[in-house]
Amino acid sequence: MPVDHDVLVSGAGIGGLTLALGLHAAGIRAVVVEAAGLPLPAGTGVSLPPSAVAELTALGLGDSLARHAVAPAVLSHYDRHGGHLWSEPRGLGLGHPVPQYSIHRAVLQDLLLQAVRARLGADAVRTSTAVVRFHQSESEGVRVTLRGGGRVRSETALALIGADGLRSAVRAGLHPGEAPPGWSGVWLWRGLVPWQPVLGGRTVVVAGGGGVRLHVHPVSYPYDNGAQPPYAYADDPATPYAGGLRVPYGNRPGTPYPYESLPRRGQALLHWTASVRLGPEALPGGAGAADWNRRGRLAEVLPHYAGWRIGDLDVPALLAATPRIHGSPLVGRAPLRRWGEGRVSLIGDAAHPLLPAVPDGTGLAVLDAAVLARCLARTTPDRAAGMRLYESHRAARVAALDIAPPLPCDVLLDLVAERAPDGFAQVGDVLTAEELHHWTAAHLALEAAAEAW
Ligand SMILES: Cc1cc2nc3c(=O)[nH]c(=O)nc-3n(C[C@H](O)[C@H](O)[C@H](O)COP(=O)(O)OP(=O)(O)OC[C@H]3O[C@@H](n4cnc5c(N)ncnc54)[C@H](O)[C@@H]3O)c2cc1C
Repeated sequence: MPVDHDVLVSGAGIGGLTLALGLHAAGIRAVVVEAAGLPLPAGTGVSLPPSAVAELTALGLGDSLARHAVAPAVLSHYDRHGGHLWSEPRGLGLGHPVPQYSIHRAVLQDLLLQAVRARLGADAVRTSTAVVRFHQSESEGVRVTLRGGGRVRSETALALIGADGLRSAVRAGLHPGEAPPGWSGVWLWRGLVPWQPVLGGRTVVVAGGGGVRLHVHPVSYPYDNGAQPPYAYADDPATPYAGGLRVPYGNRPGTPYPYESLPRRGQALLHWTASVRLGPEALPGGAGAADWNRRGRLAEVLPHYAGWRIGDLDVPALLAATPRIHGSPLVGRAPLRRWGEGRVSLIGDAAHPLLPAVPDGTGLAVLDAAVLARCLARTTPDRAAGMRLYESHRAARVAALDIAPPLPCDVLLDLVAERAPDGFAQVGDVLTAEELHHWTAAHLALEAAAEAW
């Protein structure tokens, strides 16, 4: 059957771009359509577990990641008073052959976008073009209706992949009538801030208790030795940049990231997320307000963290210095019984949005993309068979992560907050060795499940 495309990917997020690279490596031609225009909306920080880093390294991005991402050495848990509960190594320290990375989402997306354009051609990613709906038939494969440039047209493909995130149009077509994403009861604020390195500079900090949590990690190494800052943010693609990478993204299209927020010498870019369990009446908008680009206000988040100090990290000062705060309800969806149908399937947040056990879905999206590319290659030319093979590998693994909160790590933090609301001197004063072992082992098991192919 003559068609316009072999594989059409909806969404140039982390999953969609990784898939395009994986398909290209497997000799399968893909085109990616992206609803947003350039500069793409950026987001703040994301992390990549070693299994996702291994996939991106196999796609030739290992050196770029090493240059632009931070490899955390340790993950440390604290109560809200800075009492240390436990630490564990990350990445290479756990025996993985490649590191775990923390990286600015825009930097990762830009690395992927540049690689796709260099390898597949400048026209392989079509921005300002949204998938509206699709229709499958024996004679045409998948006919996809696209909207862009003020007009609606349709194109055909042998396969359509929905990598179009939380509010996926492809998922809506596969599962008509599905309820919209529902609020988990947690509100999430995020920010990036130039700050001096804390807790040794390569630590992922998790702190909290009593329904209030904080997560802090660097997404750049300190800017030092007369070098330029790690990134240049600008709307103008011609802006000079450091380290071979230009990030022409503002956090909103047409809005340059505030220049004054670039790190000064000795500072790194720190990423923080603050999540708070709230009643449904606490903030306006409910689940309907979920939007990665939604702005948050310091006054909303600061009161939950008054007086928090974790080692050399002054939490209220960090929050107050953040030039742009994002705040949005954390939403989720019930797991799907089947992801795809015929020549259409889903990856990343489109397939399994924001699982409670996986605070950051980026690693899952990369693994989905890598497995799908391999399955389609293995079953060429039968695209539907490739998708079912992919789903048989990934759907059960991901479903196992859809466990109801509270997660082991939160149980432990809440337990400590309850037993020692004013802090503790020794962890042994608040937790038995068995309790600590039980909950940390459960936490590590969940983490390992999220990182498995
Ligand atoms: C703007 C933005 C900012 C984010 N910021 C963060 C962050 O700071 N921290 C974090 O942990 N996670 C963030 N995320 C989510 C994170 O990127 C994903 O959870 C994870 O990387 C999985 O990626 P994904 O490719 O499945 O989805 P996403 O990264 O969400 O990408 C989906 C892409 O599909 C596009 N799209 C949507 N609808 C259509 C359509 N109909 N047709 C074509 N394209 C469409 C979107 O514009 C987007 O580019 C952000 C996502 C977005 C879109």
